[in-house]
Amino acid sequence: MSEHRRRTRILATLGPATDAPGVLDALLRAGVDVVRLNFSHGDPASQLARAQAVRDAAARVGVEVGILADLPGPKIRVETFAEGRVVLRAGARFDLLASDDAPPGDETQVGVSYLALPQDLRPGDVLLLDDGVVQLTVERIEGQRIVTSVINDSVLSNRKGLNRLGGGLSLGALTDRDRELIGVAAGMGADFIAVSFCRNAADMEEARTIARSHGSHAALVSKIERAEAIENLEEIVEASDVVMVARGDLGVEIGDAELPGLQKKIIRESLAQNRVVITATQMLQSMVDSPIPTRAEVLDVANAVIDGTDAVMLSAESAAGNYPVRAVEAMARICIGAEKQFEADIDFGKATRDMQRADQAIAMAAMFLSEHMAVRAIVAMTESGGTARFLSRFRSSVPIYALSRHDGSRRQMALMRDVFPIDFDSRGLATREAARDAVQALHRAGLLDAGDHIMFTSGDHMEHRGATNTLRLLKVGEDGRAEGLGEL
Ligand code: ATP
Ligand code: MG
Ligand code: MG
Repeated sequence: MSEHRRRTRILATLGPATDAPGVLDALLRAGVDVVRLNFSHGDPASQLARAQAVRDAAARVGVEVGILADLPGPKIRVETFAEGRVVLRAGARFDLLASDDAPPGDETQVGVSYLALPQDLRPGDVLLLDDGVVQLTVERIEGQRIVTSVINDSVLSNRKGLNRLGGGLSLGALTDRDRELIGVAAGMGADFIAVSFCRNAADMEEARTIARSHGSHAALVSKIERAEAIENLEEIVEASDVVMVARGDLGVEIGDAELPGLQKKIIRESLAQNRVVITATQMLQSMVDSPIPTRAEVLDVANAVIDGTDAVMLSAESAAGNYPVRAVEAMARICIGAEKQFEADIDFGKATRDMQRADQAIAMAAMFLSEHMAVRAIVAMTESGGTARFLSRFRSSVPIYALSRHDGSRRQMALMRDVFPIDFDSRGLATREAARDAVQALHRAGLLDAGDHIMFTSGDHMEHRGATNTLRLLKVGEDGRAEGLGEL
């Protein structure tokens, strides 16, 4: 048995902390599979520059890295401070100024560009900023000025989000700015586009239609972070390719005590509908300032892995923290440790009997057999990545090597747990030859050894999406080529 290769994927948000020379390469070497560009911060030009830097670094390091463009959504944010940040003291007065031209903020006040905010608030409302780190009680409203008192000693910095405890401040999901930024995401060739504060399937469908109209093949990610999204969870998951448990705003809207249960529910629903799922926000929060995570954070990341998440995400830890590379290293280490404890719940009794597609049926058969035969790996020839997605929903005990000639498909598969995307072009090869060459390539790469048994899935017409219709049992021969498998 070779050493355990990490199966859970790591997403890291880029920002000022990752712009320093060498940091991006180090992040990719430490194991980042997909990077996130948060379009709430910085202008399109800086995001485009980061996207290009990622493609360059990936080529240098020799890895396949996806890019996720995260749309701002209707999130209300404070403006900036003269000093970038302020320390707030419990009991002190602190005003929010709903105005387009508020002066730079200080210890006494800061601007908010959502002009209708004073009308939406009542004395006694509790405001949560920066995913609940800063808490304010509304005392009174004086025109455009909202007078509050600080509940806890805390630090508030530029452009942090603001919401009311219990939710209800943010309205429509796709804003005009989001619609515009989908074009920017398409232009940079983003592999994933995330819709913040989505409410229902229609929000996801609208984003998808706009993305496609710009020629983008990006996978659509729904961020589950408001009460309404929980009510409409099934239809949102169905309308998404990827689902994100966005614990920051979700915790603010629904209350932190509900988070553990909701995280499990969202992961379960996503896997049941063959969708990919990300667990996000404050996973290693203390590593913004500390080189090592707290024990509670270690357990949180591990529990997400045990819940069955495909990917875990870093936000401020990588974008604005002091130890971005160490945060990725810590995640990689914790994921590997947790995967050893993870027991795949492959209960085929509960599996769907209602096969909608041939590739789904083949994937199911492959997973059933792989649990009952000693195989080293599942090798899937795939165009769109669809077969790999169906295969990986079962949380296989063996790795899935997904071979595709499409860069975009490989980068989308970089987010799927248990899947290792590999560049391989099978055009012009009959299925048998394709199997032989693919297995030989994996043998040369050191991923398979002579004598290994594998499952091989492919289609007769591999140029077509969803064409997988064949499952073969193969043995790796002495020369590294595939042989038919007679005796088991
Ligand atoms: P969201 O609700 O979309 O997650 P957020 O404000 O929580 O919004 P994150 O992407 O979670 O943003 O990142 C955490 C923090 O890292 C941000 O609040 C910001 O301070 C910093 N940050 C992230 N991306 C950037 C960027 N591109 N430029 C500057 N700072 C950034
Ligand atoms: Mg959020
Ligand atoms: Mg966040």
